[in-house]
Amino acid sequence: MTTIGILGAGQLGRMMALAGYPLGLSFRFLDPAAGSPAGQLAPQNTANYTDEAVLEQFARQVDLVTYEFENVPVQAARFLADRVPVFPPPQALEAAQDRIKEKSLFRSLGIATPAFAPIDSPTDFQPALRLTGLPAVLKTRRLGYDGKGQRLVHSAAELGTAAEELGRRDLILEEFVAFERELSILAVRGRALESGLSPQVAFYPLVENHHREGVLRLTLAPAPHLHPGQQEKAESLARAVLERLDYCGVLAIELFERRGELLANEMAPRVHNSGHWTIEGAPTSQFANHLRAGLGWPLGLTSAQGFAAMINLIGSAPPASDILDIPEAHLHLYAKAPRPGRKIGHINLVAPGEAELRQAIGRLRQRLDIPELARYNQTTRMEI
Ligand code: AMP
Repeated sequence: MTTIGILGAGQLGRMMALAGYPLGLSFRFLDPAAGSPAGQLAPQNTANYTDEAVLEQFARQVDLVTYEFENVPVQAARFLADRVPVFPPPQALEAAQDRIKEKSLFRSLGIATPAFAPIDSPTDFQPALRLTGLPAVLKTRRLGYDGKGQRLVHSAAELGTAAEELGRRDLILEEFVAFERELSILAVRGRALESGLSPQVAFYPLVENHHREGVLRLTLAPAPHLHPGQQEKAESLARAVLERLDYCGVLAIELFERRGELLANEMAPRVHNSGHWTIEGAPTSQFANHLRAGLGWPLGLTSAQGFAAMINLIGSAPPASDILDIPEAHLHLYAKAPRPGRKIGHINLVAPGEAELRQAIGRLRQRLDIPELARYNQTTRMEI
């Protein structure tokens, strides 16, 4: 039996295992935290990612390694890659972990990004501000997620204070983008099925994402009201990244839409929260396709089956019976203890048409106090 080793045992790893069991795969996790969502499904080595003895043992226990979060130390991925196939490739992890490298990669491929500049000392402030203008967003180059490690600044003085708060160096200043909306594209690249052939590549439809306090709350799939050619544009930029990195697996790219133009904000070399709708909303989920890619198996279809909305359950979840009596609803709970701000599950609503999806959202609104759902229903178009 093929055993997939997954670095990280959170909900993404859990959903990957749930997608892999029907394919006859088995799983093993490595995570420093005990009692994790995925540890309930498969054995877990509980240790730090930097413990080489543990990595050595892990490499012997599994046939193939992937990861479910992008802050896995690149060194650990490289150490494993010397012993067992690792996907996505460690160079993708490396690029995604540093916002400057990531945006420079996009730029080198001709992909538009918000203006940005590195900040390592106060002498960088003025040249950076000349590039970005004000307001601007100051972020840590590394280890930021869900809006953490970010400050919006309106003046050079505020930039000074924010830089002090964020640690003075290894920062990036970005132009504040007054975007119309946030979109993301999920791409998947397999392995060459025969030598001489190029790997199979597939794209899910662009989706529209709504964040609050830096955390994803709602995804609409496919994204409503796309401009002509926008899907193709997103696919071609994602393809360029896949090819440059000789990528394998699922890659998510987060985009800002500004006056119809797409600006790349960041990428995640893994399955992604904005792809959870694919579990019931697409013929092949992102989790199944990520595994197929790594195994060198043919990829599955990535089209949308109807219209979907994915709603994150953050901090707490209503009783299951309140959700499950909505026929379009699919409830996914991650077996995590409720805690403020914690993602503990999500709901996928999938309907054959936009009108039916709107109705299902209306019913869900009566049971869940999520402002994004309320705004959705007040408009006549599929827009918030
Ligand atoms: P990030 O960690 O870069 O994905 O940022 C989290 C969220 O902050 C994004 O989803 C946006 O809503 C917002 N954000 C990040 N960067 C910018 C920017 N340069 N301009 C405007 N909003 C931003």
